Amino acid sequence: MSLTSTIAGFCLTLVTLVPCGPAASAQNPLRDHTEGVEIRFGRTQPVVGYTLRVEAGDLSGFDVELRLRNVPDTFRLAMVAHPEYDDRYWRFVEALRVETPSGAAAVPREDSALWRVVAPGGGALVRYRIHLPPAESPRAAWRPFLAATGGLVGGPHAFLYVVGATLAPSHLTLELPPEWQIATGLEPTLDPHTFFAPTVGVLVDSPLLVGRLRSWRFAVDDVPHRVVYWPLPDAAPFDTAALVGSIERLTRQAVALFGRAPYRDYSFLLEDGAYGALEHRSSVTLGAPSAELARDPSGLLAETAHEYFHTWNLMRIHPAEYGDVSYRTPPRARGLWWSEGLTMLYADLLLRRAGLPVFDSTRVAHLEGLIGRYLASPGNSRFAPESVSVVAYGAAPGSLGDYSASTHLQGELLGTMLDLIVRDATHGARSIDGVMRAMLERFAGARGFTGRDIERTVVDVCGCNVHAFFEAHVRGPQPIEFDRYLRLMGLRAHVAWTPALGRDGQPAVDLRLYAWQPPAESLLSLVITNPGSAWGRAGLHTGDRLAVLNGAPVATVAYFRSIVTRLRIGDTAAFEVRRPSGAWRTAVVVAGYERPVVRLEEIPGATERQRTVRAEWIAGSPR
Ligand SMILES: [Zn+2]
Repeated sequence: MSLTSTIAGFCLTLVTLVPCGPAASAQNPLRDHTEGVEIRFGRTQPVVGYTLRVEAGDLSGFDVELRLRNVPDTFRLAMVAHPEYDDRYWRFVEALRVETPSGAAAVPREDSALWRVVAPGGGALVRYRIHLPPAESPRAAWRPFLAATGGLVGGPHAFLYVVGATLAPSHLTLELPPEWQIATGLEPTLDPHTFFAPTVGVLVDSPLLVGRLRSWRFAVDDVPHRVVYWPLPDAAPFDTAALVGSIERLTRQAVALFGRAPYRDYSFLLEDGAYGALEHRSSVTLGAPSAELARDPSGLLAETAHEYFHTWNLMRIHPAEYGDVSYRTPPRARGLWWSEGLTMLYADLLLRRAGLPVFDSTRVAHLEGLIGRYLASPGNSRFAPESVSVVAYGAAPGSLGDYSASTHLQGELLGTMLDLIVRDATHGARSIDGVMRAMLERFAGARGFTGRDIERTVVDVCGCNVHAFFEAHVRGPQPIEFDRYLRLMGLRAHVAWTPALGRDGQPAVDLRLYAWQPPAESLLSLVITNPGSAWGRAGLHTGDRLAVLNGAPVATVAYFRSIVTRLRIGDTAAFEVRRPSGAWRTAVVVAGYERPVVRLEEIPGATERQRTVRAEWIAGSPR
């Protein structure tokens, strides 16, 4: 997932606030009505070959051919659901037909993402087209697109697979406009247009960036890496050597942490004109606008570091709920606080170790900012991180009622506190690095981790008891007692609540609410992100349906935002909402609000041991 955390219904990347994609809502009501249809393939997996064709004259979509041998007379085809970003591209499958040696076969659709094929004879040729949905602006870096000079194809958005045969290897051949190049995490073959995927999981987790590409290579411990850039025709020039050099330095730090790279080669797939990013097993798709890179060649490093670290912490070390690929959405994971939060922690730490630019001058300043954000939103301490993980992706906006919370933030702070606990308990011999390596040793295989597994792993590394910590702050909703853990390095948090200021230095308007459009409903739904906000204090609640604002109906989210972002302190906003109990009205006096400013200060009488832990934590050196 991208640095993108779902905050206030918007996907917040480091630089932009954009509406979350369709992945965030609208689950398919048919999807789970198909128990018991799977044939399990044993030793005799089907033989599978794909061809994906892009015609320069028609960029509305791409054609896919699927050649199957060793299949039973009746089998199912399906489209994989991504565990977090299920873009439901089964909606865009067109002209699906199946040919067999004895003629055309029937392909009844059994469910949204599931088709039954009756094709006696053991072989079949499947053809279909993915008709791409209208281009979005800005474009999400992980979604397919086609333009005159290239595009992104493949992934879960492109390929039907034989249900029950997820261990079937396949070859994929691309037929592309002349002069288009290909960059992907799939294994190359002797034919430059043909690639190999050992499993369906690898096939759908290896998108293909195609077109007129720029690319650079470097090796880390003899493992090849490449940075590939797809520029818009009017791309702004930027310092490519600085970008590639920074990525190489970052890569070296991550590989050094774990001892080796977990892939055969790796591709950083950077796209001009796109936002956000998505991690894959041996590649990352990353929005990298040339205009932003021209302004600041290091502006994307934090996001790059985050996605790259997921190569280990999420793709290999994965939550127990994430098993093999499936057309069914997997259960929501309780361990994303670890997968996302520790990845946040390491994105910052690896950049520091590599001597690359970071947002905060020091680790202390970084931690002060994190604690401030945690305290600013009471949802962070009201809901257990394991519970917030469950609603981090795919849940309807407002799942936490009148509160919001960030699993990324909770997890980064928990990881930091655990780091201090491990350093203190081992007299500096070990750190969270050791926990991360042990997690890789234990969970790099098929088995994913649970919260208990993380606890056991920490215990084994530190030789200390963290049961109460996990009960209180991971499984339970007890606020993190920062001073208790900061004390281990001789610090405590001083918190001052001061008026929040805007960029102009003037008091900022309290905008701790947003609205979204529930599917198939006429009225927008409100979300209050803090019950102490001006909106919450005026009696508004998450789930209120907005009928009238300041005397006018509100048809769209964009209109709602245009109204509220123009409000000034002292204005009155008149709301009429619909509730199950009927209509309800309130007038909200628009106000400013306070936010916490956190400073870490030394405790009186800090010991030598505490000072040593602090110095080593601040240095952040590998342990
Ligand atoms: Zn992530």
